[in-house]
Amino acid sequence: MYVDAMDLRCSSCDVVADPLAWACPSCGGALDVPPIPLEGSPSGEGVWRYRDWLPAVDGISLGEPVTPLVRMPWDGLDLTLKLEGALPTGSFKDRGTAVLVSWLKAHGASSVVIDSSGNAGAALAAYSARAGLKCHVFAPASASPGKLRQIAAYGAELHAVPGTRQAVADAAVDHARVTGDVYASHAWHPMFIVGTRTFAFEAWERMGVPDAVVLPVGAGTLMLGIAHGFADLRAAGLTDRVPEIYAIQSTACAPLLADGREPVEVVVGDTAAEGIKIAHPPRGRAVIAHATDVLALDDDALWAAHARFRLAGVYTEPTSAIALAGLTNLAERLEGKKVLVPITATGLKSPA
Ligand SMILES: [Zn+2]
Repeated sequence: MYVDAMDLRCSSCDVVADPLAWACPSCGGALDVPPIPLEGSPSGEGVWRYRDWLPAVDGISLGEPVTPLVRMPWDGLDLTLKLEGALPTGSFKDRGTAVLVSWLKAHGASSVVIDSSGNAGAALAAYSARAGLKCHVFAPASASPGKLRQIAAYGAELHAVPGTRQAVADAAVDHARVTGDVYASHAWHPMFIVGTRTFAFEAWERMGVPDAVVLPVGAGTLMLGIAHGFADLRAAGLTDRVPEIYAIQSTACAPLLADGREPVEVVVGDTAAEGIKIAHPPRGRAVIAHATDVLALDDDALWAAHARFRLAGVYTEPTSAIALAGLTNLAERLEGKKVLVPITATGLKSPA
């Protein structure tokens, strides 16, 4: 099990940071946690089934289930969908948030702030309510109205910010600086990614290690959790392989579609894939390093896939439909392979 006092370290300069820090105090780089040995056996349900493989803190729970798998042959692929919309606030963000809020509460946080296009804000609002933390959420004024209502419903203070997604992030960081509230960014805080590892653990227990995972990527917090989770399982000798990982971006915002190891500067356009409209992903280098390949698709492809899958009984938020669209482009490379796609949130989040 993790020791409570485990260090958060800078991924660039190796400086050790405070448990409540969201970035390196020296260089501003993203923080990492040390590799986690998988000792002990999973028991119980959901995220905290893996408590021995998570930080040793009191686990704050809203009753997370093991999310359902739906196996459906698709264009020559052995496709399985994992329905993350079954989590308590309707998106995968509950995995990272359950662990992050538990960590922050254990280290004395009383008030938290985040910027979010909606799903991470709803997750932080809900888990903060459960944990007794005050919560501020900065969201784009243009975010889906249902997502904004959900955030406010949990009692969080909602700040709708006009302008770009970056303007929203800047406003949240300013709020944290001025008030001393803890910046609980899903894109920055490493404990969020520690929590999204549980996606890989659940998949491994229920279906084994897939040949490939295809998923929408903005900040890459689910993708990195999946990559780390399968790598941890391999390091523990619990499997001898890890899946290929295909990261799908929107042509409206594809900084990870880079030739080299660094994300590229992009001009952000409009897309229905609001959850992945991240121009400056803090862990962009790591995402590129872990991706088998990165593709970018447009909204026409997104909506075509959205329609095909809802007419097959799977109602996804538009952001995840871009990964489903990617299956068509990857059909040749993935033919006959066992492919896993997370449906990152329910379609009810932004009905379309
Ligand atoms: Zn640093």
